[in-house]
Amino acid sequence: MKILVINAGSSSLKYQLIDMADESVAAKGLCERIGIAGSVLTHKVPGKEDYVVEAPMPTHKEAIQLVLDALMDAEHGVVKSVDEISAVGHRVLHGGPEITESCVIDEHAKDIIRKYFPLGPLHNPANLMGIEACENAMPGKTNVAVFDTTFGMGMEPYAYLYGIDPKYFDKYGIRRYGFHGTSHMFVSGETIKFGELPEGKQKVIVCHLGNGSSISASIGGKCQDTSMGLTPLEGLIMGTRSGDIDASVVQFLVKHENMTVDEVLNVLNKKSGVAAISGVSSDFRDLHAAAEEGNKAAALALDSFCYRVAKYIGAYAAAMDGVDAITFTGGIGENDIGVRKQVLSHFDYLGVKLDPEKVNVRGQRVEITTPDSKVRVFIIPTNEELAIARETVRVGLS
Ligand code: AMP
Repeated sequence: MKILVINAGSSSLKYQLIDMADESVAAKGLCERIGIAGSVLTHKVPGKEDYVVEAPMPTHKEAIQLVLDALMDAEHGVVKSVDEISAVGHRVLHGGPEITESCVIDEHAKDIIRKYFPLGPLHNPANLMGIEACENAMPGKTNVAVFDTTFGMGMEPYAYLYGIDPKYFDKYGIRRYGFHGTSHMFVSGETIKFGELPEGKQKVIVCHLGNGSSISASIGGKCQDTSMGLTPLEGLIMGTRSGDIDASVVQFLVKHENMTVDEVLNVLNKKSGVAAISGVSSDFRDLHAAAEEGNKAAALALDSFCYRVAKYIGAYAAAMDGVDAITFTGGIGENDIGVRKQVLSHFDYLGVKLDPEKVNVRGQRVEITTPDSKVRVFIIPTNEELAIARETVRVGLS
């Protein structure tokens, strides 16, 4: 059984065809510059040269057709006809409070995706374009939406409501949603499986540390809390996002820097985080290199980032009355040994004991604590496409 996974952005579209027999990637690729001159598709099949197609893609409709043509191409294809694709799984950003589960896409699901355009203005419209393009190109095929927000639907009201009048939740749906939900769901589930965590010992904190970073607390795979909020701005300090900040800073900057609210939000989303603190880069490899050369601002950015992650881990251990496992994922979580060690240096009191060799592993599934460590720590590379494919089979084909 093969599942096509689609992640449609406003001018790009990523895809993977996953063979569910062994969960391997049969083919994957990217359409770039949709709606812009110079559109290009890059199609990759393991063990073969990249297949690059330069062709006009005025809309997602043409992009999907080119993807299907590449998947069925005599030389570069991996299927003979679309009948070999059992279903299509779509990454969708926002399902609002109504959507608590991945779902088969019907008119109701599309209405919900439309309803939450205002909460996901960059992603939801593009996600819907990807869905409609697939419906058009493959009539009758099962399409499943896997929402980034459903993992956060596990939270109780005391965790997801802000300390403001609940009328704003009732009227606009303003609450903590959490993002990277598909990754948190996948990695917390894989932590339980890989670590063989027994029932009653499944309090897991997942640190998804990448260009965007977030952290979640879950028990038995059910989200208890997560750091991103109404939008992906809240929580950890990120590559270019500020993370948590006193809302009064917005008013202060509007008044004193003569900026509009939108301009301040642009600063908080795109011109803040470790890039702004360091003045060097949002890439952690550049930050380490600069800090090693004596750049104090780069060292401060790394310290600020690690401190915030540690602070959240401490808060989530309290929120769950304990923690059994902490898992690192994302580009930084999987690869940055220095950040991992610095964050975990805060948890001697929890009885975290690092294995001196395994702590230096990069990008692989591994337990990095010793057998007598009270809290187990893992690295588990995230795989959102596989999570979407599994959800597509679960809700669409069973
Ligand atoms: P992601 O958004 O999950 O793809 O993560 C991207 C970030 O991971 C990059 O901006 C880097 O900061 C970080 N990263 C990737 N590889 C390494 C590495 N070997 N060491 C440190 N950081 C890394």
